[in-house]
Amino acid sequence: MTRQIPSTDVDFVEKLFLGIDVGGTNVKLGLVDAEGTVHRRGTTPTPELGTPQRIFNFAMQFAMQQLEDLARPERDLAGVGLAVPGVLDTRAFELREVVNLPGWHGQPLLELLCDASSLPSAVVNDANSAAYAEHASRMLGDRSLALITLGTGIGCGLVVNGSPYGGDHGCAGELGHIAIRFDDDALPCTCGSRGHLESYAAAGGLINRLRSAIKAEGPSHFSAELLSDQVTPLNIAAEAEKGSQVCQELIDETAQYVGQAIGMLGQVIDPEVVLLGGAMTFGGNATNTGRQFLERVRATVKATTLVQVGINMQVDFATLGNDAGVLGAAMIAKQVSQP
Ligand SMILES: [Zn+2]
Repeated sequence: MTRQIPSTDVDFVEKLFLGIDVGGTNVKLGLVDAEGTVHRRGTTPTPELGTPQRIFNFAMQFAMQQLEDLARPERDLAGVGLAVPGVLDTRAFELREVVNLPGWHGQPLLELLCDASSLPSAVVNDANSAAYAEHASRMLGDRSLALITLGTGIGCGLVVNGSPYGGDHGCAGELGHIAIRFDDDALPCTCGSRGHLESYAAAGGLINRLRSAIKAEGPSHFSAELLSDQVTPLNIAAEAEKGSQVCQELIDETAQYVGQAIGMLGQVIDPEVVLLGGAMTFGGNATNTGRQFLERVRATVKATTLVQVGINMQVDFATLGNDAGVLGAAMIAKQVSQP
């Protein structure tokens, strides 16, 4: 994840860090201070620049321009962090699997980032970057945290003992592909295997369960939104909020699946904090449905783990949203830059 170039500056707390969050559509940039406040933000379409070298050079130009605007000297930039999607080899810092980033596969990302910045640099998977941002914002020190993202797929970023953890092959925290059903009729998963969490609890799994319920109960019991081919988890959450028993049960079931997987994760890592984020949190703390979802996840975790794991694990909603990738990358840059 890191390469150290020793810092010689004593005023470290005054320093700024550049976070670069690369996605298939956009590159997000942020100039962040040691406390985790984002001072300047930028974004640019990824395909226009394309290669890692061009994106890193653009990011450095952005940082220098922002420093000038802030009337800060160039030496105030103390480190650069990069968050990337896909399977990141955490020894070579090369992407082994990545979609939507042509020309990035197999590139020596840390080396290229160091060349472009001449500063302490870090490269991390974007899920782990977001998890690290949540970890830093909660000042969890050497504690462990998992950030689970629920949506079209199910992702998970890990911070173990205070550092982002990618595993030996960049696949740690692939919670969506934990098997929760083992019988012959376990549902097929997008990865080609069967019975994985994602098949049951990601958006597609929830909608499949809705369609089974419609078949079982008859369409007259369901609203036009729920019967539509375009139905989304948001529609199901809205109907649950209006009192639909079936939709509440579907969401409860989702919570139980997610809770089971978190229980397994808890038995392996025993983290202090597990956070739920992404589009499928059913309104989060702002709605009764979201709060009930969280309570059911918590109850399932407690019911499926050893007492000391269940009672000590804080399960909650994530709070940082869109800023998390950039912020985490900058905070990891801070971690590797510390004198
Ligand atoms: Zn799978």
